[in-house]
Amino acid sequence: MKPNRKYTNDSVGWRFDNSYARLPESFYAQLHPVPVRAPQVAMLNHALAESLGLNIRALSDEEAALLFAGNVLPDTAQPIAQAYAGHQYGHFTMLGDGRAILLGEHLTPAGDRFDIQLKGSGQTRFSRRGDGRAALAPMLREYLISEAMHALGIPTTRSLAVVTTGEPVMRETVLPGAILTRVAASHVRVGTFEYIVRIGGTEGIKTLADYVIHRHYPALVEADNPYLALLNRVIERQASLVAKWLLVGFIHGVMNTDNMAISGETIDYGPCAFMDAYDPDTVFSSIDQQGRYRYSNQPHMAQWNLARFAETLLPLLHPLQEKAVALAEEAIHHFPAVFQDCWLAGMRKKLGLFTEETEDSQLIETLLTWMQQHQADYTQSFRALASEALPQDALFRDAEFVEWHARWQARLSRQAESRQSSVSLMRAHNPAIHPRNHRVEEALAAASERGDYSLLQQLLAAVTNPYADAPEYHDYRTPPEPSERVYQTFCGT
Ligand code: AMP
Ligand code: MG
Repeated sequence: MKPNRKYTNDSVGWRFDNSYARLPESFYAQLHPVPVRAPQVAMLNHALAESLGLNIRALSDEEAALLFAGNVLPDTAQPIAQAYAGHQYGHFTMLGDGRAILLGEHLTPAGDRFDIQLKGSGQTRFSRRGDGRAALAPMLREYLISEAMHALGIPTTRSLAVVTTGEPVMRETVLPGAILTRVAASHVRVGTFEYIVRIGGTEGIKTLADYVIHRHYPALVEADNPYLALLNRVIERQASLVAKWLLVGFIHGVMNTDNMAISGETIDYGPCAFMDAYDPDTVFSSIDQQGRYRYSNQPHMAQWNLARFAETLLPLLHPLQEKAVALAEEAIHHFPAVFQDCWLAGMRKKLGLFTEETEDSQLIETLLTWMQQHQADYTQSFRALASEALPQDALFRDAEFVEWHARWQARLSRQAESRQSSVSLMRAHNPAIHPRNHRVEEALAAASERGDYSLLQQLLAAVTNPYADAPEYHDYRTPPEPSERVYQTFCGT
């Protein structure tokens, strides 16, 4: 295998500045991606590249494949694998990037800083028993879902490219290998704090917290207690994020503390999925036997993870342990209220409400209970409410729904805004199209088993335009037939 080559004349326009690699050496391992045999481009995100100020159109297919496989490195890259830990299904483990390399932080022309990470790039000293590689279908899945989430207005890491490696990976069967290029505000996780406090103590955690404040929350430098302010800001961002997930019916699937980003972006798309029929107990992940990360438990798990985050900050919150604990507890106890505010505000938009009434929560709960009892499709039902006239559907002639509808209409008429403004608000907050699991599975199977990317490209075009009613997307809006329903998703790492 050829070793990594370094670019000399960089036509792509990388502007790397690797601030993480300037942190203490114990925070990461310095190493290169392991070159792959025969890389080929599967997906390239030109729109994202442009927004980053990268000119990937200047590359031939072969050059792009070598770059996004890590066979060739931009000369300003400073590749590292980050160290972190995590509570996985409640159990603490030392982890780290076992199959990912951070090439560095790219600075966009607007001055924003993004991690550029290759996922599936070979073994590192954090690989434990893993091969350091990734299979094609899960990488395509992350590409598709992360781009769909972005189009839905949900904070998320993005996907710049997927390349196949030309090497097989051994899972339950032999699968084609692939590498995903992930773009993130950063890859600092709750698990990063859990790792650093254990190996670096108070000094280590201060270094990391100061780094994060400087990088993600610069305004907090001025705060009376910047570390408490950091805790509160992370709580707010996570509450807002998880509320957004619930509002679109998203289930992350593996909310371990190593998969919760301090930036407030959705990260690590494994067995994630969107609900079809509304059921708060929905679980997709085949390994989530207890339903720990089921749809309705996500706010609770976010709070649990944030408590682990708060514990790592204790030495910084107050010199007296007792006081520090009290401050942390107060902040964490605030989470449900912050979450509820975000969720309720989002639900009001979904129902076209501009004003606030105390009975709104009850109005929403009644609708959701009805949806659950009638196994109504979550996305399609909300979108139907946003249409000028309800679809001629037996479901909407149900007596309980008719009664609810009258209550809702009365509620709408108690606000000054016009019906048309309500419809516009609803149409902007109730997507018509999202990545339906049966469509995702079908598209991934065609791409990964038969090398046919046409379904995936069509699906990607549909889900990155989620508020469109275009007739050609009809099939992407339609819920699955009982025979098409997906009941389980697999990590497939
Ligand atoms: P994930 O489930 O993707 O969040 O990964 C959890 C941990 O397992 C992380 O430390 C990963 O780097 C590691 N990991 C997952 N798959 C592999 C693999 N094939 N080889 C090495 N490490 C892996
Ligand atoms: Mg992970």
